[in-house]
Amino acid sequence: MENAKRRIAILGATGSIGRQALDVVSKHRDMFDVELLTANTSAAELARMAVEFDANAAVICNKDKYGELSSALAGTDVKAFCGMDSVESLVQGDNIDMVLTAMVGFSGMRPTSAAIKAGKTIALANKETLVAGGSYIMGLAQEYKAPIIPVDSEHSAIFQCLLGATGNGIRKILLTGSGGPFRTWKTEDIAKASAADALKHPNWQMGAKITIDSSTLMNKGFEMIEARWLFDMAPSDIEVVIHPESIIHSMVEYEDGAVIAQLGCPDMRLPIQFALCFPQRFPLGNAPLDFASLGRLTFEKPDMERFPCLKFAFDAIARGGNIPCAMNAANEVAVAAFLAGKINFPEIADTVNFGMSAASFIEKPGLEELIATHEEIMAKASEKLGIK
Ligand code: NDP
Ligand code: MG
Repeated sequence: MENAKRRIAILGATGSIGRQALDVVSKHRDMFDVELLTANTSAAELARMAVEFDANAAVICNKDKYGELSSALAGTDVKAFCGMDSVESLVQGDNIDMVLTAMVGFSGMRPTSAAIKAGKTIALANKETLVAGGSYIMGLAQEYKAPIIPVDSEHSAIFQCLLGATGNGIRKILLTGSGGPFRTWKTEDIAKASAADALKHPNWQMGAKITIDSSTLMNKGFEMIEARWLFDMAPSDIEVVIHPESIIHSMVEYEDGAVIAQLGCPDMRLPIQFALCFPQRFPLGNAPLDFASLGRLTFEKPDMERFPCLKFAFDAIARGGNIPCAMNAANEVAVAAFLAGKINFPEIADTVNFGMSAASFIEKPGLEELIATHEEIMAKASEKLGIK
């Protein structure tokens, strides 16, 4: 790392990734200046974090919570703002080098675009931005020379496996996934799964939305699309491998048949720290892998019949244009409805399928067209499910 401190913004600071990122920062206070923190509604928690980390500014996206944030920050050095427009302009500030995108869903699209346009280094956790607008976002990153460093554990693993590739040919990406809580369940039992069942991820503690996405394997489909854009790989060269132990975080197969894997205990602080400190590694205080006690690692093919969302993701990226954006929008509506107890588990996949067929095709969507597609499909999916 350069000698100067890395000045960071954490968008979605109060979430699972955001909190773990601040934990990493707290272990390296000499290396980082926290400039900007954001949240959606958790005003009190945001204020507490902003004071603890001596942030320059804090933004609460939900404007109704501004009063709570500004009174909690009264008399401190932290400036309080509200709304997505504030996030968009503040991430572009000269006081910021790196932006960790850790908000959830399509809400990451506008601030990530803004940060890229200002040439910031992006530590990307918010995969939905790349799922919905991969071609647009990668084009923008190239145009504005904004590096994107993955935070998602699989993509961090792939990124690490590619270090030192020195131009050698890559045959395949092997994207691993635990298979989620319903890996061994029969179709008829999955159909009756409750939100509480789906929220019991076997290996990772994450926010609610990504935990549901993991249970449908939508998350693995999203990650395939994320890998397609981050590493410029054809979807047919990305193979999903179910690996229930979550020890191998993904692999790269080279032309000569050599497979390079990255392994570690499931702990998101590792890929978060790797992205924030890249290219340096530092101790994390985590338990080392103990191979003798692991005994064995196992692998399976994914079952796209029981988990159709994974197949939908391959279909969406094959159709291209704004179809992955439509898929993501329908999924956001469906996951929120499932978490609220308004629909059953199979209706998530049905809604995703519906959303993909309900979109009017746009071949090369820009930011405004992505936003329009997102809003149109959110509205259509909500109407179909009878949600206001
Ligand atoms: P959480 O739900 O735990 O946290 C989300 C954060 O974003 C919170 O700070 C929340 O604020 C904020 N937020 C939520 N909705 C909005 C909105 N509409 N506008 C602005 N801010 C919003 O999510 P995770 O930390 O689990 O996930 C964050 C991202 O990282 C997701 O894209 C996910 O796919 C990705 N990711 C997560 C992993 C994990 O281990 N958790 C692993 C790999 C990727 P508030 O607290 O006020 O609601
Ligand atoms: Mg992941």
